Amino acid sequence: MTTEEFRKHAHELVEWMAGYMENVEKYPVKSHVKPREIINRLPAGPPLMPEPFDDLMKDFEEIIMPGISHWQSPNFFAYFPANTSPPSILAEMIISTLSPQCMIWETSPAAAELEEKMMIWLRDLIGLPAYFEGVIQDTSSTSTLAAILTAREKLSGFVINEEGAGKAGTLRVYCSEQTHSSIEKAVKICGIGRKNLVKLPVKEDFSMDPSKLREAIEADKRKGYHPCCVIASLGTTGTTAIDPLRAIGEICAENDIWLHVDAAMAGTALILPEFQWMLDGREYIDSLVFNPHKWMFTGFDCSAYFVRNPEHLIKTFEILPEYLKTRTRGTVNDYRDWGIPLGRRFRALKLWSVIRMYGVEGLREKIRYHIKLAAELSELISHEPDFEMLAPLTINVVCFRFRPARLNDNEVNKINEELNHRLNDTGKIYLTHTVINGIYTLRMVTGQTNVTMEHVEKAWDLIKTTARAL
Ligand code: PLP
Repeated sequence: MTTEEFRKHAHELVEWMAGYMENVEKYPVKSHVKPREIINRLPAGPPLMPEPFDDLMKDFEEIIMPGISHWQSPNFFAYFPANTSPPSILAEMIISTLSPQCMIWETSPAAAELEEKMMIWLRDLIGLPAYFEGVIQDTSSTSTLAAILTAREKLSGFVINEEGAGKAGTLRVYCSEQTHSSIEKAVKICGIGRKNLVKLPVKEDFSMDPSKLREAIEADKRKGYHPCCVIASLGTTGTTAIDPLRAIGEICAENDIWLHVDAAMAGTALILPEFQWMLDGREYIDSLVFNPHKWMFTGFDCSAYFVRNPEHLIKTFEILPEYLKTRTRGTVNDYRDWGIPLGRRFRALKLWSVIRMYGVEGLREKIRYHIKLAAELSELISHEPDFEMLAPLTINVVCFRFRPARLNDNEVNKINEELNHRLNDTGKIYLTHTVINGIYTLRMVTGQTNVTMEHVEKAWDLIKTTARAL
């Protein structure tokens, strides 16, 4: 492709992008395609000769687009959001044009130094103490794995990295039973072993019960185990429960246990002074992750991972083959040593673009608005006698169900599952569920970049009419 041709297609594509943004609500939010439908429409093998861009776009519209679920639709209320925004998309255009590989400072000093600065901005914005340093990872799952590996190495005197996982089978990791599955995955693959993950019962509000944590640690110590790491969640996936950091942190400090905080989605709320209470006990934290790619308008992927002491992190991950030795080593941040992959994208540019073009107050205003929408939705739900709220509303996730008096518990579960599928099949909204104490629970998350009260009200009307017709 010549530069002239590229220029032409890129302009066409910008038109397509703006049109998509304007029309995103016209697509079914959740894709309706059946398994294998897309793959069966793709040719058996690659073309031998070059094909024109127009042909590619035609197939993209006809074959690929029907298989896309529209996370950027304001009618997307499922999971946690993975939202983007025009400033993030514009920055991605630059990133994909430069396509730098930012493994070490020397392979693009600006990328390393912008990343360092963005992590300082974010750290200060979310209210972590100034001694924290940060690095951008791809996801929370990777950040949490890095945290548990670092905790494991610190506890073993950095011996497991050298000699293998012999001692790891006596290490224990603690979290609440509401914690995200990425913690279980990390414990499973890091050599500690899934059986050494202790999932603690939760309190009525679904947050971790520190007294149960203390009991578990004491019992484990008596049995000869080595408590290694506690994961506290700020905003669990099911109900956005907030674990009490101070009480958990005190127990960690008494027992010299690593405290990792998973604030994947809810961490963004920390930019609001009125949500700083979630971080009470911050002085006990060893590491914290939150994803600007969830609720801070920065397109996937961008996960902010903060550590109290980068030395432990670097000691866990550094490896120095001859070809990566540089004269600047030790005087700059070579982020390849701050996590698992060697190669790294230039994600800091997206954050820079988003934070500058929204401004801190712009970000706060949007986040506050989303939180207000959730409060208004829960108010609407509470006025309907055949619906009920199922968990306290903490931030932007509303947990509820349809509960007609004529049905027993089992039937109520079934009807809510049916309701969820029916709603998603309309293509008008997208909701997902969780199960809490055996109760099938609908979750509605008001965190999509462009969601408004009008979207929420329309969705709520659809939910009520669909439910009552079942
Ligand atoms: N932690 C929590 C609380 C989550 O809700 C999620 C995903 O939704 C994750 C971790 C994993 O996030 P990621 O996809 O960035 O690994």
